[in-house]
Amino acid sequence: MRRVVFLDRDGTINKDVGYIHQPAKVRLLPGAAQAIVSIREAGLAVVVVSNQSGIARGRFGLEDLLAVQAEVERQLQEAGAWLDGFYYCPHHPEGVVEPFAAVCGCRKPATGLLERAARELGLSLEGSFMVGDKRSDVACGYYAGLTSLLVTSGMPLEPAASPAEEPAHILPDLAAAAKWILGRWAGLEPLR
Ligand SMILES: [Mg+2]
Ligand SMILES: [Zn+2]
Repeated sequence: MRRVVFLDRDGTINKDVGYIHQPAKVRLLPGAAQAIVSIREAGLAVVVVSNQSGIARGRFGLEDLLAVQAEVERQLQEAGAWLDGFYYCPHHPEGVVEPFAAVCGCRKPATGLLERAARELGLSLEGSFMVGDKRSDVACGYYAGLTSLLVTSGMPLEPAASPAEEPAHILPDLAAAAKWILGRWAGLEPLR
């Protein structure tokens, strides 16, 4: 079983422009692609887990989400960076579009996306990592038993509302987070 670094997408890999739904607006954050390359070269999987409540809220459709994701992956691949998986939550309890207007087990900080990815891709949650720009990403990793890192990506830091929202470390961007993980990873025992 491989360990994994789960990554939030918007605000962690690409610039968060708010309910992004146009491929033309996709801008990778500096160093993000190289960070993904270095994590995968170290033998960890990279899986993106993304809350996309814009679908439940009627801001955009599933095809828009997939078009944006395709563009994110196209830009990453141009820099040699490949993902092992992409999982998203289209739900929101206050949504207006059926059947997505619902309480679900996959909207971060719930751990459904991580568990599904681990099951489908044969990944170990134990000894794995979560990196995101929101406190909900940090808490998601905490609830799944991972080591969580918070990246600020140039935005003001939201205060933690609970111990679950306290990351192992706060870093400026994904490049710095990858470096931190790889330093930590070198000291981990291999999985049996
Ligand atoms: Mg984000
Ligand atoms: Zn969901």
